[in-house]
Amino acid sequence: MPIYEYRCNQCEKEFSELILNQREINKVRCKYCLSRNLTKLVSSFRVHQTEGARLANFDTSKPRSNDFYKDSRNIGLWAKKRMKELGVDLGPKMDEIVEKGRTGKILDDYNK
Ligand SMILES: [Zn+2]
Repeated sequence: MPIYEYRCNQCEKEFSELILNQREINKVRCKYCLSRNLTKLVSSFRVHQTEGARLANFDTSKPRSNDFYKDSRNIGLWAKKRMKELGVDLGPKMDEIVEKGRTGKILDDYNK
């Protein structure tokens, strides 16, 4: 289950929220003051923790071998890392795109 961590911009408290589906992300409110003015911190999902380590060790300036892409978990990593370096946070939308790329669903969408 994905657990997202938030910091409330209103009362500055931090809390985590279990997100069962993407639609619930837009309904998240601060547990303390019910504010919707939140900053998403990290998604501490088991898979994403591993990915966090991968991202940290990943150097976008180095060329990648074909073997790199044989590991489907590396697909989208470059794009994510670059976004992070550029300070762009696409949030769950990016995760969704990357997840689709990894599972081959993007191809399914094109074939429809
Ligand atoms: Zn609050």
